[in-house]
Amino acid sequence: MASQVRNVGIPGVEPPKTVCSDKKCPWHGDVRVRGLILRGTVIKTKMQRTAVVEREYLYYDKKYKRYEKRRSRIHAHNPPCINAQPGDEVIIGETRPLAKTVHFVIVGVVKRRTEGS
Ligand SMILES: [Zn+2]
Repeated sequence: MASQVRNVGIPGVEPPKTVCSDKKCPWHGDVRVRGLILRGTVIKTKMQRTAVVEREYLYYDKKYKRYEKRRSRIHAHNPPCINAQPGDEVIIGETRPLAKTVHFVIVGVVKRRTEGS
């Protein structure tokens, strides 16, 4: 049902204040979040309803016994009711494939971009 707000089942994420009719929205559409739940920063939103989210993580290098920083970019669906902007810190959840390169969806914004960053 498109007019109903569903519970995504992720603690600490509030449902968006506006309602949308996007069927690929985790709150108002029919995609189900299952699998990985990650946190990252929105890099760009140039695609229609899709954002590029970058994640930085530490990788342990056995030979040198040190951690090194690695980063990866993930395509995530950006529903109109959330409308994340570049610089926002978001929680993304794994879903069924939504497009050729998209199998994550933004479930909420943790921190809106602050002026000057
Ligand atoms: Zn929505």
